[in-house]
Amino acid sequence: MEKNWIVDEIDKIATIGQDGHGVTRLAFSPDDIAAREYVVNLMRENGLTVRIDEIGNVIGRLEGTDPQAAAVVTGSHLDTVPQAGKFDGVVGVIGGIAALRELQSRGPLTHPVEIIVFAGEESSRFGVATIGSRVMAGLNNIHSLRKLKDQNGISLSQLLNDQGFDINNISKAVRSNSDIKAFIELHIEQGAVLDQDSNKIGVVEAVAAPARCKIIVEGTAAHSGTTPMDDRQDALVSAAMIIVAINEIALERSARGIVGTVGAMKVHPGAINVVPGLVEMWVDIRGVDHQSIVECLQEIKDAVSEITERQNTAVSIEMLSSERPVSMDRDIIKLVSDICREKGIRYRRMNSGAGHDAMNIAKITKAGLIFIPCKNGISHNPDEFASAEDIQIGVEVLVETLYQLAK
Ligand SMILES: [Zn+2]
Repeated sequence: MEKNWIVDEIDKIATIGQDGHGVTRLAFSPDDIAAREYVVNLMRENGLTVRIDEIGNVIGRLEGTDPQAAAVVTGSHLDTVPQAGKFDGVVGVIGGIAALRELQSRGPLTHPVEIIVFAGEESSRFGVATIGSRVMAGLNNIHSLRKLKDQNGISLSQLLNDQGFDINNISKAVRSNSDIKAFIELHIEQGAVLDQDSNKIGVVEAVAAPARCKIIVEGTAAHSGTTPMDDRQDALVSAAMIIVAINEIALERSARGIVGTVGAMKVHPGAINVVPGLVEMWVDIRGVDHQSIVECLQEIKDAVSEITERQNTAVSIEMLSSERPVSMDRDIIKLVSDICREKGIRYRRMNSGAGHDAMNIAKITKAGLIFIPCKNGISHNPDEFASAEDIQIGVEVLVETLYQLAK
């Protein structure tokens, strides 16, 4: 297949939003839109008809011989985190277009085949991820979308307006299994599992869902010079113990795919000469098995109340979100595994710790997610790297999967 074409196109897209420290194409920014426009032209040059839906998802389509048949769909995203690499999302977009080029050369298929560039996959700009695929799956209500604003106060609604769309028409972008037969996303792993065990393909069984909470520890702010050690209610000391406890609880369950992180914390009043009176901390727990997430959260709650009681501090826990892990479709997992076996490609079944558009489309139709290795598991970083050979193998598996579903 056309390894050089794929690598060339990935490199061309990486010039859009390149600032010398990586690629920055925040959702709905001018660079994101420029990349989408570039891809619209690329799709047209390659014989696809293109439409853009009301949330800005770009949909390239190859007609099948049966005009009534539901489409077999692939896709990913072009928006990035700040100072990103060039492969996250782009591999699935350019790889998807390459796959449709290859399918065209095999002659007519019964089902139409589509390649979608989902809008706003990364959460960097609006604090919410996978906006385009959520809208397509009918998972977003219009009131929550209207409220979305970036750090500069620019609303999603305004940005859509600038593109000639009206957020009030968003329901027109919703699709169902009557027009999407199946969805397969090709993506870099963004972890080191495949890179370490030398498998070329990861067939994803489930996508982990985050449970997020905010823990507020209350002590008493006091003079650091005059308050004796045995008479303190130091909120930060309790918080430190809580961090260690969360790490241990997650570690104990790591065999079941649990990861737990305290990734942000605010200390009040935050002065060198004041015993900390209040700490806010943000906790992210993920796993692919809902029951173990629930158990993990319960254990954290127990540990937190035990620690704060012992330390004579007070605590409140606010759940921010708790979503269920999403399973990929069994038939597609089997199909992709069979294809790898037949082609003699080393593969493994695995879970995804990161969220992807496929988890939303899985709510409306059969969905699958194919991973290729990324070097040392580095992603969301300018050093992100996937080799041309590995991308090519991923596209080969994608082509065969789409072909089997659409023939
Ligand atoms: Zn991605």
